[in-house]
Amino acid sequence: MPHILILMSDTGGGHRAAAEAIQHAIGRLDDKNEFTVELLDFIKETAIPPWDRLGRIYKPAVDHASWLWGAGFKATSPWPIRKSLTALNATVAGPKMMRLLRKHPADLVVSVHPLSTSVPGRILRRIRPEVPFVIVVTDLVTTHPFWYWKGADATYVASEEARDRALRLGVPASKIEITGLPIDVRFQELPDRKEEMKREYGMPTDRAMLLLIGGGEGMGNLEGFARAIASSGLPLSLMVVAGRNEKLRRRLSTTAWEIPVQVTGFVRDMPRRMAAADVLITKAGPGTLCEGLAARLPIFITGFIPGQEEGNVRWITENNAGRLTLTPDDVTIALHGLFDKKGPTPLYDDAQEAAARLARPEAAITVAERLMALASGALTRKQDNGKHEK
Ligand code: UDP
Repeated sequence: MPHILILMSDTGGGHRAAAEAIQHAIGRLDDKNEFTVELLDFIKETAIPPWDRLGRIYKPAVDHASWLWGAGFKATSPWPIRKSLTALNATVAGPKMMRLLRKHPADLVVSVHPLSTSVPGRILRRIRPEVPFVIVVTDLVTTHPFWYWKGADATYVASEEARDRALRLGVPASKIEITGLPIDVRFQELPDRKEEMKREYGMPTDRAMLLLIGGGEGMGNLEGFARAIASSGLPLSLMVVAGRNEKLRRRLSTTAWEIPVQVTGFVRDMPRRMAAADVLITKAGPGTLCEGLAARLPIFITGFIPGQEEGNVRWITENNAGRLTLTPDDVTIALHGLFDKKGPTPLYDDAQEAAARLARPEAAITVAERLMALASGALTRKQDNGKHEK
């Protein structure tokens, strides 16, 4: 039975979402129930300082000092700094990572996190050279160099620019493939019945519904954007996903609004909610953006992490699938471009078509197919070698 180990971590919601998307896609394709998939939060498991604090500091850092996070992103990118940090990481984290890889034997090891690439990759080469190591890059465009290791057996990326970065960092072209970012397989089969979906969520069917999200943690000025939308004077309704931000969920739930508004905490049915929506308003998180595109939604981007998410903004706006709306006023202006008193304008249809052109709803299935082939191949080779040794 081929066993696949996925190294991920809960810094933001995107790495886990991509790992789960791959896991479910493998489940879909595996009709004979042959494969097993294990998701491992390597940061939690190894508790390597200072990375063990990343999960906890991600939200406050990105929310209140995204420039600092961005500065960290930029400062750690140049080659000499990167090299010393990787060496330090290998010294500090190496022994724990080795124990982890020994404790969780697999026929294929996959990383969906930039801090678990070259260090576990090199260790694996040493302790189990027959096991392939694969990187699935879960950032879209301006991907950190930490993502890339030229020794990986395959690197899957979401955009041309990410592929070019990998090439510049020495990853052989034959080992890179643009697959798109793996998102929940349910985005491949979204119901095309907006009215019915709106009814399912108790939202009016005669108004365009905006979906406002601040990542898994409910980050950013969601309240300010919600107020601007509610007072735009347009016939809209609004669904706010406050994620794990319980304080915000409670506050917005008890507010009196001028339009129909629904506020929820963390949801597990994002595909259906996006299928009910007409516009997505979100920070530039790669997962949420790709999900919005798969649902053919025009996107307003309310914020981005400098460095890391800058390219995401460019990618969406230059391809006309959305706009950068950093303030509540920007959102109001952009809304008046997409809608008038009667409903959607021609601009809305253009943005919707552009979103559909960028979408890669099949990405998780493509990646799953590749991983299953690699894991089966590795297991067969191991079994053959075992026979020869007897
Ligand atoms: N998400 C979710 N439920 C929520 C809020 C967010 O399932 O209530 C998911 C969202 O659909 C996406 C992920 O969390 O798949 C957020 O990932 P993204 O890359 O957009 O941002 P990050 O949180 O990693 O910065």
